[in-house]
Amino acid sequence: MTFNELNLIDPILKALQSEGYTQPTPIQEQSIPVALKGQDLLGCAQTGTGKTAAFTIPILQLLHPIVRHEQGTTPIRALILTPTRELAIQIGESIAAYGKNLKLKHLVIFGGVNQLNQTVALSKGVDILVATPGRLLDLMNQKFIHLHKVQFFVLDEADRMLDMGFVNDVKRVIAKLPEKRQTLFFSATMPPVIQQLADSILSKPVKVEV
Ligand code: AMP
Repeated sequence: MTFNELNLIDPILKALQSEGYTQPTPIQEQSIPVALKGQDLLGCAQTGTGKTAAFTIPILQLLHPIVRHEQGTTPIRALILTPTRELAIQIGESIAAYGKNLKLKHLVIFGGVNQLNQTVALSKGVDILVATPGRLLDLMNQKFIHLHKVQFFVLDEADRMLDMGFVNDVKRVIAKLPEKRQTLFFSATMPPVIQQLADSILSKPVKVEV
């Protein structure tokens, strides 16, 4: 299978070509068509399988043509929640690479650094926000971030979120998301507690395992 067969738009295909990607990985091959159709996804995949592209590419493609109705700053339309700063940075780099021919704005936020740069960037409008849970909640509580326009939600490395003690933070964030949204859920392992979390936030998900 090639990326051409996944019905991706030209600006994304060109970006993937310049990254040197010749063919989708198995998680991408299975996830991208499901996500492009608007379905929820339960992905069982580890880091290194290409899962980042599996969720970032469909979001870029689906957000790209949507006309913005608000004047001025754009509301956040996609939220990607990930447990660590390193993962957040990597996801941001992937979005920059695959979306380099599109006009979508993304921002990466995490804790342990001054929040000023992050709030200034937020005030200019962000389409896709990549965040770790603690800093996200912090900025939500300070009203710098509103999630009422989020159409796409990704929970990345759900099992690690749990291991790191972020489960209540994650639930607090999810409580602020619109009910009507598309959710892509990724975890390397699926113990019962993760399955329960998935069941509570996904709607008729397609399960993909690699
Ligand atoms: P991930 O599992 O998302 O952390 O990705 C692992 C690595 O694989 C990253 O360095 C990606 O740039 C790379 N990668 C992802 N998809 C592909 C692909 N289809 N072809 C070649 N490399 C890829």
